[in-house]
Amino acid sequence: MRDILLISRAWHFAAQRHSTQRRKGKAHEPYVNHLAEVAELVATATEGQDANLVAAAVLHDTVEDTATLPAELAAVFNADVASLVLEVTDDKSLDKAVRKKLQVEHAAAKSNRAKFIKLADKTSNLRSLVKSPPDDWSVKRRQEYLDWALEVAQGLRGTNVWLEAQFDDAARQLAASCAKSS
Ligand code: NDP
Ligand code: ZN
Repeated sequence: MRDILLISRAWHFAAQRHSTQRRKGKAHEPYVNHLAEVAELVATATEGQDANLVAAAVLHDTVEDTATLPAELAAVFNADVASLVLEVTDDKSLDKAVRKKLQVEHAAAKSNRAKFIKLADKTSNLRSLVKSPPDDWSVKRRQEYLDWALEVAQGLRGTNVWLEAQFDDAARQLAASCAKSS
């Protein structure tokens, strides 16, 4: 499939699958805003050289958060896109605390391309917690999310200088906003 067709199709698929979802932040942004941010970060970091990776960034939450199976992604897109999405998908049958621990433990063993998506995902979430934190998240909870994201990112370092700088900048801003609110 040509790159433009692949990425257009990924957007249509993700927009349909996430159509009823909003972000948890107080602005309740459409879920696709997060996907757009992650995809743009990945595309910029890879200088537009990896269409499958950008499609996987667009689709990165479909298996975790919608009724989508990796086999469907392989059929509609290709096996590489499906395998990248699977690599960044948590096992939802596990307890949330266990999933968080596993993200820290598994980060370093991910493929280099999956690390781009994971770093971009965490960067987007940190930025959201600065711009539009969920109403019911205390400063302590935001700080705990930041501490956890920093631990996950530790295993993702050495992937891309620019993307890591975006992550570090978002982490600094969240730390400053937590310090200001406490
Ligand atoms: P998180 O607390 O980890 O919520 C963050 C996830 O929500 C992100 O990874 C992201 O998913 C998604 N998300 C959606 N909107 C936003 C947004 N605006 N900003 C940031 N992230 C957003 O998960 P849960 O809500 O499922 O809570 C589970 C864990 O939270 C528990 O295991 C516990 O450790 C902790 N907790 C802490 C509390 C406290 O007061 N300290 C209270 C309750 C729970 P994605 O990465 O897929 O985009
Ligand atoms: Zn995400």
